[in-house]
This record gives sequence, structure tokens and C-alpha cells, in this order.
Amino acid sequence: MNKRKKLANAYRVVIKLGTSTLTHANGKLNLYRIEQLVREMADLHNRDLEVILVSSGAIRVGANRMGMKKIPTTIPEKQALAAIGQGALMQLYEKLFAEYNLTVAQVLLTRGDFDERIRYLNATNALLALLKMEVIPIINENDTVAVEEIKFGDNDTLSALVAGLTDADLLIILSDVDGLYDADPRLAENARLLTKVTEITSTMEDRSHNRGSSFASGGMFTKLKAARICMASGIPMVIANSAVDNVIRRIAAGEEVGTLFVPREAKMHAREKWLAFGSLMQGSIEVDEGAVTALTKKGRSLLASGITGVSGEFERGAVVGVVTPAGIEIARGITNFNAGEVRLIAGHKSSEIEHILGEKDYDEVIHRNNLWVVR
Ligand code: GLU
Repeated sequence: MNKRKKLANAYRVVIKLGTSTLTHANGKLNLYRIEQLVREMADLHNRDLEVILVSSGAIRVGANRMGMKKIPTTIPEKQALAAIGQGALMQLYEKLFAEYNLTVAQVLLTRGDFDERIRYLNATNALLALLKMEVIPIINENDTVAVEEIKFGDNDTLSALVAGLTDADLLIILSDVDGLYDADPRLAENARLLTKVTEITSTMEDRSHNRGSSFASGGMFTKLKAARICMASGIPMVIANSAVDNVIRRIAAGEEVGTLFVPREAKMHAREKWLAFGSLMQGSIEVDEGAVTALTKKGRSLLASGITGVSGEFERGAVVGVVTPAGIEIARGITNFNAGEVRLIAGHKSSEIEHILGEKDYDEVIHRNNLWVVR
């Protein structure tokens, strides 16, 4: 079946609305646009689809509330404005969805909710419970408590991770751009909108660094980052202009609107997805060529004998990268030994581990089931 038409079969849909969609250039709410989009989402819901909304705009709305013309640059001020704006935004969503008899729920996430597997599973369970209750979760980053190091920083990435977390069938990112072009449309008159992308090239990425293609905080760069996550996770993603009439309904009907990023065929398993995108690496283990082949070609576990070095300090159960002697990451996994132990057993046979450490709970340093091989 045509890749676009397939989108008409989507059941669980994540929709991300950027700040530029929700507010006018002067920072005030774009009520007309928001009402239209809420109506479309309510209609999807009435057709028995599951809708998850990822909404930006908190900081901008907060700034507007406080009469600020520009968004301040200090983190505490932004945190404060997010707290002010988030409430205002939710009040509006609550009111608009209630007109269609729908209930919404606010879910604020931080990077940390994705790092630790247990928190990741907790977040998933809560979201799935909301969907089961036929409630529309409205997600934003918890900007008030997330300071720079622990931030996603942009809701494009967050929405792709949420799509992965909930095993969604489609992610729609709406902003003030029509999609991805083959050249910068502000510079090249004959720039063409790409309706379908099957591979993200380095040229696309280089061009996306050029900010200003959108008022949104991330521009095209973070949208491509989100697309990468979706494509690898097996989830189709569409970028489109929120000003297009009936944009959500048309995308969900399989019409050719915006740019579709076509995912690889197979959906990733939940644990793989978490290892690849959710977790934060706490160190790395360097391996020899033999181990590289065993992991990437033969589907084996990582044994101590192939380990040549360790960087960083990590505990048992931490997520670590597996790197080649040239420092290229080939895999990521959950380690059965802490950094000090791996240093001691590196290069030794599994049968020697007990003698070296005085105990042995595992033969493998990283078991195959807890390993994700970078493609
Ligand atoms: N979380 C931010 C906010 O609500 C927006 C991040 C983004 O625009 O991607 O203001």
C-alpha cells in the first residue's frame, strides 16, 4: 500500500503543536488556530482514534501574561514563566476540549523520566491508563524543574520520544513551515517541498542548522532529530503547516500534506527503543575487533574476554556504550558489572571471573537481551 494511504490506518496519534502555531507574532494566543486544531483532535477522538497532544507555548504564554515583549534569557525566569504559562494554556485546552465533552490531563515530563527504565515504564503506564479512560493527555516538558543539563530543550524531540514510549502509529508535528524543502525556500525560489523522505542525509542536516526557518525553538534541526528517532523506531512522522485547512484530518486520512518521513518497516521492541533513545549513557566499554563482529554480526552477548578498556564510573545496571578501538559506538546495553569490576575482568575468560572478583553472578558483561546494536 502507498505509504501515505497507510496513515489512514493509524490508531494512536501523537500531535505536536509548536509555539509558533499557538501564538501570534506578538506572543498572544492564536485563538482561532487553537480552536480549529482542538476541533480536529476532538473529531479524531470521536472516530475512536487515540490522541496524545504535545503542546509547547508555556514560556511564551507566560511571558505574554507578564507583559514581557521578549522572552528573558535566564533559566530561573524561563522556569517561572513556564509555570505561569502552563496553567494558562491548560485552562484554555480544558475549556476548548470540554466544549466537545472531552477530558484532558496535564502530563509534564523531564529527561529524567526517560533515563531510568523504571520511570520510563511508570510514565508509559500512566499515559496508557489515561488513553484507556478516553482522556486526552496534554504533554509538555516540565520546564519549571528541568534545568539545562536535564532538559530535552525542545518539544520536537520530546514528541518523538512520547510516540516511541506509547508505541504510537503516527506523529504529526505542526508548525509554521510547510515541511522539509530540498533547498532553503527563503533563499532559493525554486525550492521544492519534499512530500516523502526515506533517508535523512547529511546535506539535509547541514541545511537545518540554519535557524530561522521557523519561529519554533528548534527550527528544522530538532524536527529532523525527531524524524530520526521515529524512523528508527518504526513510526511514520509528518511535518506540516498548522495553517493548512483541516490539516490533522487530512494527514490522518492519508492525504499528501507536508513531508512524510517513512520509517523502516519493523517497529523496534520497547526495550531496544528505550536503550536507543530514552536512556543516558553513564560510561563506555571498549572492545576488540572480535567482539565487534560477535556483537554486530553474530548476535552474541558481550563477554569480558573481548573488552580492552573502560571509561567513566558506573554501577551495575547502568546503561553503557560499547565502542570500537577507534571510539565508534557500535552498541548500547545494560551492564551486569560496575566499572571497577569490568576493569578487573577485562580480557579474561568468563570462567576466571569468580576467581578475580570472588563471586560471579553473570557470565556476560552485557547480555544480548539487554543490548541494542547501533545500525
Ligand atoms: N517547553 C517549551 C514551552 O512550553 C517549548 C519547547 C519547544 O518549543 O520546543 O514553552
